[in-house]
Amino acid sequence: MSVYKEFAAGNEEYRKTFGDKGNLAIPPKRKLIILTCMDSRINPPQQLGLHEGDAHIIRNAGGIAKDALRSIVISQRMLGTREIAVFHHSDCGMVKFTTPQLRDILKDEAAIPADSATAADGMEFLEFTDEEEAVREDVKFLQENPLVLRGTKVTGWLYHPSTGKVRFLF
Ligand SMILES: [Zn+2]
Repeated sequence: MSVYKEFAAGNEEYRKTFGDKGNLAIPPKRKLIILTCMDSRINPPQQLGLHEGDAHIIRNAGGIAKDALRSIVISQRMLGTREIAVFHHSDCGMVKFTTPQLRDILKDEAAIPADSATAADGMEFLEFTDEEEAVREDVKFLQENPLVLRGTKVTGWLYHPSTGKVRFLF
């Protein structure tokens, strides 16, 4: 049974409290970007008291700034965001593998064509070894990146999936 078959019922439930959200503008009201991991335990609006229309939420495996740069530039230059909060989290899957391991998994698949093996070798998975250190690196990356607006307020945070608590780092 595919999950998509549950979407219609879930959406009906959501629309019961949709209210006047149809009038929201495209630019985020709070001029905020939340950058975080794709981890399914993370739900930034609920965990931070945000709502539809408040912020851009940019997610990828690990919540890596380098991987999110394209979206950040569009968010800042086209849609007016001026603040970035970087959230990584404890117990992140990104500390549990290495790029060479993942390349090997891709290449070991029997059906993989030769050019895909080359593609696997060219892929960096941007894993890290310490979540707090990863926040520090991503905040630094954003503060120093010439494509990010000068003067952008960048903060670093850790989320703990075991307790639901967020912790401000810097
Ligand atoms: Zn994660």
